[in-house]
Amino acid sequence: MRLVLVGPPGAGKGTQAQFIASNLSIPKISTGDIFRANVSGGTELGRIAKEYMDRGDLVPDEVTIAMVRDRLSESDAQDGFLLDGFPRNVPQAEILKKMLSEFGAALDVVLELVVDDEEVVRRLAGRRTCGQCGRIWHVDFDDKKDDVCDVCGGRLYQREDDSEETVRHRLEVYQEQTAPLVSFYADESLLVGVDATGPVEEITQRAMEALRPFAD
Ligand code: AMP
Repeated sequence: MRLVLVGPPGAGKGTQAQFIASNLSIPKISTGDIFRANVSGGTELGRIAKEYMDRGDLVPDEVTIAMVRDRLSESDAQDGFLLDGFPRNVPQAEILKKMLSEFGAALDVVLELVVDDEEVVRRLAGRRTCGQCGRIWHVDFDDKKDDVCDVCGGRLYQREDDSEETVRHRLEVYQEQTAPLVSFYADESLLVGVDATGPVEEITQRAMEALRPFAD
């Protein structure tokens, strides 16, 4: 299955992407994760991306698209993939369509995780990530009082772009640039939406149910 996940920052895309991709046995391709790996690895790509990411702005399309093109050319992505965080605007969606048609392929479905703005701010401002294993914790929902990962003992950190001010800016960017994708994909008859509030496992179940008609 060739699947795109859309939804505002904090909709739980990263978490759901992990479960859905593993249920469907397809690779999860997250542009945010690839950028962050490049930032920590100190690469040229990371250096370029960092200043945009820290402000909560989108990394320029040419940089992002080249990176996605490389990733989609890898062998594990030939029979299906889940894209998390890409496309992020209509021009990226148009290029993705063109890129896939060059490979003789097309998207099967776009899953929208639906959640309102105030919930997003609450979720993101309390989000902490383990610097060692990447697991995501939440100060309220997981009742996390220390900054140590209960799974691997790594140190938890707050993503620089998860401060309340930057979260609000990321939401504006989402409304202006990414929300139009919802109607773009609705027009292409590719869009299905699921309510992304409630326990993580229930959201995954809803998502799998919504995707069932598109499974091979
Ligand atoms: P995410 O982890 O998906 O929230 O992405 C974190 C940051 O990476 C975003 O705020 C952007 O700065 C950058 N980013 C991720 N995906 C894209 C994309 N498709 N286009 C441009 N910038 C992106």
